Amino acid sequence: MKTSEILNQHGIATTELRVAILRLLRRAQSPLSYDDMLKKLKANKTTIYRNMQLFEDRGLVSKTELGGKARYALSSKASAHFVCNVCHGVHAINMPLFLNGDVATSAVIKGICRECAR
Ligand SMILES: [Zn+2]
Repeated sequence: MKTSEILNQHGIATTELRVAILRLLRRAQSPLSYDDMLKKLKANKTTIYRNMQLFEDRGLVSKTELGGKARYALSSKASAHFVCNVCHGVHAINMPLFLNGDVATSAVIKGICRECAR
C-alpha cells in the first residue's frame, strides 16, 4: 500500500513531512526515538512531535518508553524488543508465539546485552 493511502485511511491529510515520517517508520527495524527521526528528517523537533501526537491519536503509531526515551513504531507492526539495562541499547527480537492462540502486539524484555556482559 502507498504511504499516502495509509495516511488517508487514518484520516490524516498528506504532507511531504508526514509521508517522510511514515516511510521512515515502515522501514525501521526497531522503534524510533525523536533523535533518530531528527537525524533523517528535515524538520525541527516540535514539528515532528506534533505529527507524532497526531499519528498516535489516530492509532497509526504506538508509543513505548524504552531506555528512558519515547519511541514510536507503526501500530500494525507487531514488535518485541530487548532493552539493555546498562547501555539502554534497543534490539528487535522475534515476537514469541503463544500456543493458546493469544496474539501479542508488543513486548519489552529487559536484561544485559552481550557487549555490556563482557
Ligand atoms: Zn548494553
